Amino acid sequence: VAGVIGSPIGHSLSPTIFNAAFAECGLDWTYVAFPVPEGQAGAALAGMRAFRLGGLSVTMPHKAAVAAGVDALAPDALALGAVNCVVPHRLPTGEVQLLGENTDGPGFLAALAEDGVIVRGARVAVLGAGGAARAVVRALAGAGAADVLVLNRTAERAAAAAALAGPVGRVGLPVDVLSADLVVNATSVGMAGTPAGGQVPLDPGLLGPSHVVVDLVYEPAQTPFLQAAEAQGSWVVGGLGMLVHQAALAFGRWTGVQAPVATMRAAAEAGLAARPSSDVNH
Ligand code: NAP
Repeated sequence: VAGVIGSPIGHSLSPTIFNAAFAECGLDWTYVAFPVPEGQAGAALAGMRAFRLGGLSVTMPHKAAVAAGVDALAPDALALGAVNCVVPHRLPTGEVQLLGENTDGPGFLAALAEDGVIVRGARVAVLGAGGAARAVVRALAGAGAADVLVLNRTAERAAAAAALAGPVGRVGLPVDVLSADLVVNATSVGMAGTPAGGQVPLDPGLLGPSHVVVDLVYEPAQTPFLQAAEAQGSWVVGGLGMLVHQAALAFGRWTGVQAPVATMRAAAEAGLAARPSSDVNH
């Protein structure tokens, strides 16, 4: 048994994605969504040990609390102070050690690579400075981006996120988008079912045919920002690829089996298409 903890969690696409993957690979595994209230991440980790879960995904609001509660952290999770995937390691003594990982950044890079987007040498503007933005900023710097500019509503958070990119990171202004190659929306603006649902995170007039525009928001699949960017002639990439690839990396860590990415993607698309709207969590 594997699963995801979060609150709210009822509309998570993860059970659909993982159970499709287990079935495709003929693995006798199942994946469950566990609603865990804020403040109960430690109890959930104790439950993971007691029930000998094969893997645990972590989503809002537990990513930081789980980072503080596992036995060890992989480098990305340590730098970000956030865990989205817990991998149990059984020691010869029978004791289980829980390793906290963060597959959001590598999942983002894998999704870009799948779409043929080259990060090395690119000038990137990242909109937002929350958990997703921080993972993306660190991943972009690690993949050789030339510049990583962070634009955020709350300035102090922008500076903290930019620092994760080391020497190539700095706080940017909207005008910087004009000279960027890649623009990533890592805010929640445009997410269906939220107050900012119909909105865009940036003046689309700053975008043109030279830009690749990525939206991490995947619900709706065609966000207002992607629609506006496409109208400006930009090449656009939706957020479902990152969702699928971060899950694929977790699947590999837990099972030791290569993830069936195409099956997972099809399951995610079908799951999204099957519902009119939802709260967005994974
Ligand atoms: P978060 O930690 O809560 O951060 C939210 C970010 O959005 C902050 O930078 C916040 O700015 C900004 N923001 C929120 N409302 C805004 C508004 N009205 N105007 C301007 N900025 C606003 O959330 P998160 O976990 O980073 O997630 C962000 C989005 O990415 C969500 O939609 C999530 O679903 C998506 N996501 C997708 C994937 C994927 O696999 N595709 C993975 C992770 C997350 P302040 O700092 O000023 O508050």
